[in-house]
Amino acid sequence: MSNIDSIIREIEIYAKENDVPIMETMGINFLCSLIKDNNYKNILEVGTAIGYSSIMMSNISKDIKVTTIERDEVRYKEAIKNIKRCDKEDQINAIFGDALETEIDGKYDLIFIDAAKGQYIKFFEKYSKNLNKNGVIVSDNMSFHGLVEEKERIKNKNLRQLVNKIKKYIVFLKENTEYDTEFHKIGDGVAVSRKKED
Ligand code: SAH
Ligand code: MG
Repeated sequence: MSNIDSIIREIEIYAKENDVPIMETMGINFLCSLIKDNNYKNILEVGTAIGYSSIMMSNISKDIKVTTIERDEVRYKEAIKNIKRCDKEDQINAIFGDALETEIDGKYDLIFIDAAKGQYIKFFEKYSKNLNKNGVIVSDNMSFHGLVEEKERIKNKNLRQLVNKIKKYIVFLKENTEYDTEFHKIGDGVAVSRKKED
């Protein structure tokens, strides 16, 4: 196991021990294959957490650049530490701030939305202007631990509201005439939205 692989294993353990909701193994593998297969180079991520998915994506190839935004200071600092340990400072630009208040210019091949589940429509609407012509917007947690499919299991009111917001987002994607969206039952549910040719 190379040095970076062992650091990645340590980040996974830290995430588990500290309840940091990093991408599930199958989900991150799917995302990385999508990036490889389509030769995506410029990636924007909403929701860095501790840098796990940014590091995994940047580790595909040296010419991949990731810009990633995190609003939680403790997680942001942990991300910075992990990015340094993996020697990925040249490839990953981590921004501390609320993604709904951050101004990003530049265009991206892939925009990965993996932040507050109640605000996905806002993230999508805000950042779609940053998408390259043949790019995709990927959204994580479309099944939210299976709760989206099994709403009767939810006893907690806040949780039920959150699941309703994810459902609204799914309808928003399905009804969006500018994008074609595929929903993949992989990891915690991953949606891939591709802009239609105009
Ligand atoms: N992509 C990461 C996991 C992200 S978890 C990985 O797979 O490794 C979701 C993160 O989004 C949390 O750390 C949370 O603090 C952050 N977040 C939620 N809403 C946000 C917002 N509006 N702006 C920036 N970060 C946000
Ligand atoms: Mg997620």
